[in-house]
Amino acid sequence: MRCEQASEMMSARLDGCIDRAEIALLEEHMAGCVACRDEWLRLQMLDSLLASAPMVEAPGPCGSDGSSPAHADGRAPGPSSAVRR
Ligand SMILES: [Zn+2]
Repeated sequence: MRCEQASEMMSARLDGCIDRAEIALLEEHMAGCVACRDEWLRLQMLDSLLASAPMVEAPGPCGSDGSSPAHADGRAPGPSSAVRR
């Protein structure tokens, strides 16, 4: 895994949006990458700061509760039109 991917996974992990397999991959990367371990510590610190800040609105879990504006007019977003060539 690349450090870029690792850092994306870190933020996903803070949101609780990745599964155990991905966490395992992330842990594995961090075990061999000091930079990412460092970044993970920093992200966790930031996250706890944000969590304790009264003004912050927490986003919904993974933003996939069906309230996406893409579905509002009944048209499916991108992928399905790609299938129907
Ligand atoms: Zn790394």
